[in-house]
Amino acid sequence: MVKLIGIPYDNNSSFLKGPALAPARIRLMDKEGSANPFAENGLEIKEGIAYQDAGDIFFDDGRPEKAFASIKQAISQLLAADHKVLSLGGDHSVSYPVIDAFADKYKNLHVLHLDAHGDLYENFDNNHYSHASPFARIMEQGKIQSLTQVGIRTLNTHQKEQAKKFGVRITEMRDFNLDFIQRLSSPLYISLDIDVLDPAFAPGISHHEPGGMSTRQLLDILRQINIPIVGADIVEYNPVRDVHNMTAMVAYKLMKELIGKMNE
Ligand code: MN
Ligand code: MN
Repeated sequence: MVKLIGIPYDNNSSFLKGPALAPARIRLMDKEGSANPFAENGLEIKEGIAYQDAGDIFFDDGRPEKAFASIKQAISQLLAADHKVLSLGGDHSVSYPVIDAFADKYKNLHVLHLDAHGDLYENFDNNHYSHASPFARIMEQGKIQSLTQVGIRTLNTHQKEQAKKFGVRITEMRDFNLDFIQRLSSPLYISLDIDVLDPAFAPGISHHEPGGMSTRQLLDILRQINIPIVGADIVEYNPVRDVHNMTAMVAYKLMKELIGKMNE
């Protein structure tokens, strides 16, 4: 069974708070939105049928070390029962403890990371746990088999060096094509930062980075992946910056498509 879990945590956002409000807003689109619950592959994405909602992780201590321990524990519990897991962040820092739990379960895990940003900073604003650094932390651990980044359009000299050091495969947005899909391996985990989309399609994010992909291009990527997906996250949706829940509906659509994919 696919389990949905909310991670309402944004203490490691460097610029704006707000992603902690995302899980509730995305679920609202299911309850009182304007869309029907079908994914494009024809599956009905109903709670209790296509997935079970495990609710939100509760944080009684907002410090990163404590919060990350809570996140890893919650995800590990779901994985121990052989569930697939879709997490709704939260800022992107939450993907570090989530993927850490997945890498413990799957010794040969491969990760596809869709984002405008590489999130590979060794250190950002003197915060080791920043949402600009989760993939540096993951790669330092050496627990995943490969990292493929797609949609990136903000590489600076430092992040290029980090990518080279860690052997990250990158399809920058300026060279965008779908060849990377053939090189993906299973078991696959997908980390989906909503800002991989052009801000025209998803204004409700903290870091507007023009020149991104369309919602259709992103859906086409998901559709063409034909290997088992064991888990995924949708992060960085920021309701505070949204316009009439437009981006909430994008996140909800992506949630349906990912759950649909995990049920194939
Ligand atoms: Mn990110
Ligand atoms: Mn990003």
